[in-house]
Amino acid sequence: MSEVSQAVTRVAEASEFVLGEEVETFEQEFAAYCGSGHCVGVSSGTDALSLALRALGIGLGDEVVVPAASFVATAEAVCHVGATPVFVDIDPGSFLIDLAGVRQALRQRSRVRAVIPVHLYGRMTPMRELLDLTNEFGVRVVEDAAQAHGAVLGGLKAGTFADIGCFSFYPTKNLGAWGDAGAVVTHDPGLAARVRTLRNHGQEGYQVHQELGFSHRMDAMQAAVLRAKLRRLEDWNARRILWAQRYRTVLDDCGMGYQCPGPKGSHVYHMMAIRVPDRKGLRQKMLNYGVETGMHYPVPLHRQPSLQRLGIAAKSLPVSEKVCAEVVTLPLYPLMEDPEFLRIEEALRSLHVQG
Ligand SMILES: *Cc1c(COP(=O)(O)O)cnc(C)c1O
Repeated sequence: MSEVSQAVTRVAEASEFVLGEEVETFEQEFAAYCGSGHCVGVSSGTDALSLALRALGIGLGDEVVVPAASFVATAEAVCHVGATPVFVDIDPGSFLIDLAGVRQALRQRSRVRAVIPVHLYGRMTPMRELLDLTNEFGVRVVEDAAQAHGAVLGGLKAGTFADIGCFSFYPTKNLGAWGDAGAVVTHDPGLAARVRTLRNHGQEGYQVHQELGFSHRMDAMQAAVLRAKLRRLEDWNARRILWAQRYRTVLDDCGMGYQCPGPKGSHVYHMMAIRVPDRKGLRQKMLNYGVETGMHYPVPLHRQPSLQRLGIAAKSLPVSEKVCAEVVTLPLYPLMEDPEFLRIEEALRSLHVQG
């Protein structure tokens, strides 16, 4: 990765380590890539979400609708601004937030100020349908696009449909830094300015702090790495999609009764997540072939110890419960090579033979 190393050296030589020109240039390039008016680089995806909520004026006493099956950060950010997450079940066909459930929550709960759709595993939430709903009820939308860099739906990229979109550049994401980083994108210059102020101690003008803000800035080193890697993102996403297609062919062949949400719109396969009845058995048999699998995510948000205090009854979210108990993630990364895939394929086919 010599381009990335060169970028890192460039930052060391410039000795401008936090914000500055490198970050500004990345912001312009990522905004242009997404087709959004503005991008603001921040310290992580979680900070992107909480700054977005703050910029929208969401806080104490407000409620925010989130899917019950996601990475914990989606709900954590809501709690960090003092608001309360309202968990909505997922759709069994897509593993994404169930729109009928969103409608019901918006109808029943007057304190809901925003919805956070999560484009889980790289598959887009049906944004047009969601926006019809949120517009009807007058609530804001913050896209959690932390797993969907570059995904497209109806000609628009993930993160650009609604008020504000949030990205994580954690190293394992489709676009990953060499450390922690995140960003928001928005068409609204006012919101972008708010996030800019908040990420840097509420500073507006030399040593003048208009309000209490945060130390949530992006490092120049991360911006430089991201600029180099952004040029490869389309190619890497295309490879992810190809590997996912090969997985499907093998899995269909095996006839093991798996379920994996199809592309529909665009799916950039941050992860190859499938649902199988006997997860434990599959993982053990794969491991016998030296193939490690993952679980994303085995515990639905309402069951996380850190969120227990919300007191949500498990039986109110049956689909999330079931999917979280059955979901397995198979190895998938853009630079995967044939020999590795063939080994995984062999392991998968052995499952079929053994029944
Ligand atoms: C990774 C991730 C985040 C948080 O990103 P960090 O950079 O780790 O803070 C938020 N939401 C989802 C869906 C994620 O996958």
